[in-house]
Amino acid sequence: MKITDIFANKEVTLSFEVFPPKTDAGYAAVEQAAADIAALGPDFMSVTYGAGGGTSENTAGIASDLQDKYGITVLAHLTCVSSTKETVRSMISEYRRRGIENIMALRGDIPKEGRTCFDYSHATELIYDIKSIDESFCIGGACYPEGHVECARQSEDIRHLKEKVDAGCDFLTTQMFFDNSTLYQFLYRIREKGIEVPVLPGIMPITNVKQVARSVSLSGSTIPQKMKIMVDRFADDPEKMKEAGIIYACDQIIDLISNGVSHIHVYSMNKPDIAAGIMRNLATIIR
Ligand code: FAD
Repeated sequence: MKITDIFANKEVTLSFEVFPPKTDAGYAAVEQAAADIAALGPDFMSVTYGAGGGTSENTAGIASDLQDKYGITVLAHLTCVSSTKETVRSMISEYRRRGIENIMALRGDIPKEGRTCFDYSHATELIYDIKSIDESFCIGGACYPEGHVECARQSEDIRHLKEKVDAGCDFLTTQMFFDNSTLYQFLYRIREKGIEVPVLPGIMPITNVKQVARSVSLSGSTIPQKMKIMVDRFADDPEKMKEAGIIYACDQIIDLISNGVSHIHVYSMNKPDIAAGIMRNLATIIR
């Protein structure tokens, strides 16, 4: 099913994300985690794509399993920055062959050691390629409520986002953020610029202290004082920290839904217990 059809038929949705294993040896464990998250009944699940494309078969495999064995609608990610046109096109065809209807079209981070391939510069080009192969794909794109790290001015980032949506994005998913006012300001600015597609807030439950530093370095997201105090209070007790992180994420989600933001994406990070904690708190609200 297309994700846009899910949005058309359900007022509030909750989706979860998994990432594929880096090695084939890790496949069974990720497959099991994905199956356990699928059993919670999310509206759809996304499967990320290794930055350099080296684990692309694992993305396709986990996504196919979720769809074929567990009947879950999937959003298969695809990055292009380190790939040739040929590789990307064959991956799009592979997704089509496997009956995948939704692609998250991403540029990917520029490798620290520099680029070896220059076929793609931005996600917009990838979207044109997906559309040229099969116009019927439902396409998601990434957006950044605090601005993308490479863009000095948010207005410029939003101008590029408009180009990306105009190229054929059906919806956007945000980078993680921990203070909902960041999202509300962003929504106001993009709607003013004519970006009308659904925007799914990406919610990252922070459930251990190491995750704080890792999340900040990966995303550049601001950690609000409220979260810093929570982490400081519970950091030495893993069980309490986990529960506090789940409740913080649920609090964010309830505030979003209360303010009319209906489609929520959770970075569940291959952790069924955390996805289950979110579901336990929200099942009645998202029904
Ligand atoms: P783009 O949309 O191409 O934007 C990248 C930068 O280029 C921005 O600063 C933008 O303003 C600028 N730009 C765009 N168009 C132009 C133009 N025409 N001229 C000049 N500048 C321009 N990474 C992975 O490796 N695998 C994943 O599965 C993955 N999933 C993600 C999911 C979400 C929801 C998010 C938010 C990020 C994800 N990422 C993933 C990370 C993502 O690949 C990086 O953030 C990457 O740096 C940017 O990707 P993008 O698709 O947003 O790029």
